[in-house]
Amino acid sequence: MIKWFMLPKLPATPLGGGGEVVVGVCVEGGVVVGVPDSVGGEVMKCKVAFDNEVLKKVGMQVHSLLNLNPIMQGHNLHDINELIDKTNRLKCSLEPLILESDPDIPDPIHNLILVGKIINDKPLNKAGVKKTILKAWNPSSGLKISEIEDRILFTFKTSQDVQRILDRRPWSIKGAHLALQSWPPDKTIHEVSLQYSPFWVRIYGLPPNKMTKKNAEIISSRIGNLLEIEEDSQGRIGGRGFMRLKVDVNIESNFPKGLALKREGDTESWVQFRYEKLHDFCFGCGFLGHIKKWCHRPKDPSASWEMAGEIRPYNPMIRASYEGI
Ligand SMILES: [Zn+2]
Repeated sequence: MIKWFMLPKLPATPLGGGGEVVVGVCVEGGVVVGVPDSVGGEVMKCKVAFDNEVLKKVGMQVHSLLNLNPIMQGHNLHDINELIDKTNRLKCSLEPLILESDPDIPDPIHNLILVGKIINDKPLNKAGVKKTILKAWNPSSGLKISEIEDRILFTFKTSQDVQRILDRRPWSIKGAHLALQSWPPDKTIHEVSLQYSPFWVRIYGLPPNKMTKKNAEIISSRIGNLLEIEEDSQGRIGGRGFMRLKVDVNIESNFPKGLALKREGDTESWVQFRYEKLHDFCFGCGFLGHIKKWCHRPKDPSASWEMAGEIRPYNPMIRASYEGI
């Protein structure tokens, strides 16, 4: 519903004009108010103030329509009708549009764009971030980095570079986790889900007879979505003394730290999860993005539970060490 109405006088503007010339348009409950930006005779154009919801719906078209020298002084009926006519056309812009879909758009890898977000409670220096990424990724033939609100767009030139960067996730930039995904052709940039990031997780504390593919699936379901199980050249799982699983982890939640394993004789033992490339991580709440000193979340409630005979707060054991690997 769009209707036009006259608003009462506005207070005098700093420009010296009285509030005699005001245009108001009601767009689905939002109000658009034109304020003269030059006074003394005619109103040359209007500055437009409106609430954010209206702005989202009608965008710049309100600007363009109201920049048509609407002279409303004296409630001239002709002008009023003209404005009603013009603002009625706004209605069309509020109707959802159906647009064609490009059937030839490349798949997410071949569109050569990745969408990312740095998971950090404090903003990082942008120039430093760019420099670090270019150095770490070393793209074979160029990489453009741009920002759209809180998201970062990485535009590559080769699909090989895109695949390599995705395969080598997770990435951390100056200690902060970089959530990174390809851009599906039917999603907007802000619809690309960055909730899950792949991590290599080492599962310590299992006897050899428990290191099976089936158990890898069971254990990884406590962490996230299983992507890959590391096997050695003999097809063995756990030949290094632990299982190593690539798991899509929900980074918007606290990281699972381990589980209690039921053993023969009604006893339990602790199975520790250790995440590779885990940097800015809070031992207070178990989330990414800050360290315990700056924690603003409730403390991990499971820290006070007794599991496998011991109290298990988060501790540095949750990080996998790369030594000797
Ligand atoms: Zn915290």
